[in-house]
Amino acid sequence: MEAIVVLAHTEADGALARPAREALGAAKSLHETLEGSTLIVGLVGGDVTAATEAIGGYGADRVLVVEGAEFSSSRYATDALAAEAICREAGATVILATGTSRWARTLPGVAHRLGGRMDTHATDLSAVDGAVTIARWYYRQRMEATFRRTHRPWIILVDPGCVAPWEGAAGTTSLQRLPVEPPASCLRTTATGLQAPADDAQTIRPDADLLFVAGAGWTKAQPDGKAHVADAAALILDFLRKSQSSLGGSKSLVDLSGEGQAVLPFMTHLNQIGQTGATPRHPKGLATCCHGEEPHAVGWRFIGERRAVNLDPNCGWARGKADVLYVADAFAVMAKVNALLGGGGSA
Ligand SMILES: Cc1cc2nc3c(=O)[nH]c(=O)nc-3n(C[C@H](O)[C@H](O)[C@H](O)COP(=O)(O)OP(=O)(O)OC[C@H]3O[C@@H](n4cnc5c(N)ncnc54)[C@H](O)[C@@H]3O)c2cc1C
Repeated sequence: MEAIVVLAHTEADGALARPAREALGAAKSLHETLEGSTLIVGLVGGDVTAATEAIGGYGADRVLVVEGAEFSSSRYATDALAAEAICREAGATVILATGTSRWARTLPGVAHRLGGRMDTHATDLSAVDGAVTIARWYYRQRMEATFRRTHRPWIILVDPGCVAPWEGAAGTTSLQRLPVEPPASCLRTTATGLQAPADDAQTIRPDADLLFVAGAGWTKAQPDGKAHVADAAALILDFLRKSQSSLGGSKSLVDLSGEGQAVLPFMTHLNQIGQTGATPRHPKGLATCCHGEEPHAVGWRFIGERRAVNLDPNCGWARGKADVLYVADAFAVMAKVNALLGGGGSA
């Protein structure tokens, strides 16, 4: 009989963000397919009033809460105390959380304290023959494995964006507060503020419907024999602003930017998609001036629908890596798309 604990932390405004609701969704469907299991929610935060109301209709067997100013922001020492207390109180055998930076750095230590085991980057969870089974990708998303463990407790971090978030009615729920008093040695680290780039400077938008990828072709000599980097930058930024899509880049392009050349100044290594870059999850993706080589295209594993614009009809995308390839000049295509989007719009 599994005691499933789903851990969630609140945000600065007291709400549960989408990743937390994804963990709730994963735990709920696992509970429903795992006969005899119990479902326990563990909430950690400064003030969990709004969060407990939001999960009023969730149907947990128990809701355990560690609340207080010491738990309002991410800090390993206090988060680990809170998670450990919840798991011990619940007699947890399977512990689920989403792989937010907060849980990713806290829960490995909690697994050690509990004498448990932990797996990260799970992309799917199910009950197969009555046993909890998870899926995980290896070798930069080229191979998928499904596996189970007999050791308990078992902590599983689910990658954000892989499962549907729980959506349900708010309401009242009975909860149990756990008295966790962090010693002074756990309070040495304090959060003094939050620094974040301005909204329009942030080009990586994990929740966007579209991933727009720029390749090195934007900086290459065009049919007139010249490079048009300033035009490229203007077209790309205009499209990002109007579509609110997320910006990715090929390794060739981000390397050029990193070498300080007069290329796209807003493109950094954080934008790189691929084997040595990111593996984002968006419903759609559009590659422009990018060849679609395997080390790049492997990062597109979880993009729902892939399209590409390339002058070369024999580019990598044409060989089965894109659903649709437009053999066309990306400068002309994006100028037209931007004109169609007008003053704003969605891609
Ligand atoms: C171990 C290893 C790991 C790697 N990891 C990564 C990785 O994580 N991510 C990654 O991206 N790469 C990675 N690479 C590099 C990868 O193999 C490619 O070299 C790189 O992706 C090529 O980038 P690109 O397509 O932007 O540039 P290019 O290969 O130079 O292609 C530019 C394309 O632009 C097109 N083009 C030019 N002008 C236009 C126009 N006006 N309109 C339309 N199309 C136009 C051209 O036809 C061409 O196809 C890795 C390589 C190795 C060996």
